[in-house]
Amino acid sequence: MNISILVFGSEHFLTGLPDQIYYKTTFNVEVIANLNQAVSLIRTSPPDIILIQASLDGSITLCSWLKEQAKLSSVYCILLEDRCELITLKQQYNWEWEQEMSASALQQGADAYIWQKPEQTDATHPLLLAQLAVGVRKAQKCRDLIRTNDLLSTIALADSLTELNNRRALEWDLPRQISIARNNDTPFSLIILDVDYFKGVNDTYGHLVGDSLLQVLCTRIRQNLRSQDTPFRYGGEEFVVLLSNTLFQEAMLVANRLNRIVGEQPFAINTTLVINITISLGLACLQPEDDMKGISLLDRADKYLLKAKSSGRNRVISYEHHRSDPPHLKLLSS
Ligand code: GH3
Ligand code: MG
Ligand code: MG
Repeated sequence: MNISILVFGSEHFLTGLPDQIYYKTTFNVEVIANLNQAVSLIRTSPPDIILIQASLDGSITLCSWLKEQAKLSSVYCILLEDRCELITLKQQYNWEWEQEMSASALQQGADAYIWQKPEQTDATHPLLLAQLAVGVRKAQKCRDLIRTNDLLSTIALADSLTELNNRRALEWDLPRQISIARNNDTPFSLIILDVDYFKGVNDTYGHLVGDSLLQVLCTRIRQNLRSQDTPFRYGGEEFVVLLSNTLFQEAMLVANRLNRIVGEQPFAINTTLVINITISLGLACLQPEDDMKGISLLDRADKYLLKAKSSGRNRVISYEHHRSDPPHLKLLSS
């Protein structure tokens, strides 16, 4: 694992650091002596460890700024005390004074506070090396945590039967996609679909066959969507597809294609069993008056789905195209 260290210090300061810091196989070291440059580098690519020369202008400001940044809380900040006046005082004052100095440095944002010997040019510094080892351990733990979090998010947002995104993922993604559409002034559409008479499949062939059918159905749906379409398992045998950057006419093409590829080709469950099913679909397009969470959009699509069911199933229903006209339902395919 490669650990990145940002040294906020002067060229002279570097000569007093232990050689081990420059072992390229362990550490990637970057040196900056200007506060603004350091802040901009930390913002764009946060290092694992920051080593700060206390006597450099902006050193304490950098410590404090770092600790105010919630997103940078994993960066391990070592403040190396080399201010001559303080080193002189250290030799005169007692143990309490030194404790207060350390406490003050930690309160100002450092994770570790180490004194630099004034004449330290022999590049050995056991305490600094030990603190770097702490920084490395912390960075390893953070990376493990990020990996575990990614894994848990994947598990939490995926449906275990079909491997599609689940309803929780939809609740997260729908407001996000609506916000993108509004910010970019691009169209956005949503399809909700439900398998027709699916209970009959379970009753006739059993639940396990029903499960297998849902799996092959999802594979087929996924294979017939465009790259900007995101499918979700909304409930039992109900699915939602988000169509980013998609106008009504294009969304209608996608919905009709889904209707066809399900209804016109039977599903092979195993070598001896083939099942025919159809789906009903409701389609809605984002309107200016729709809420940010997508509740009204989803609700309209659901009403069209119900209409598709009550008017005979195996069809797409939407009247979004005519939303400025007096509301009337339009049967667009059957
Ligand atoms: P409709 O055309 O009105 O939609 O009829 P339907 O029979 O499909 O009715 P409905 O949508 O209300 O019922 C869905 C059925 O799907 C009920 C439930 O037992 C079944 N189901 C839901 N989730 C699963 C699942 O994960 N596996 C299996 N095998 N069946 C499921
Ligand atoms: Mg159904
Ligand atoms: Mg259903």
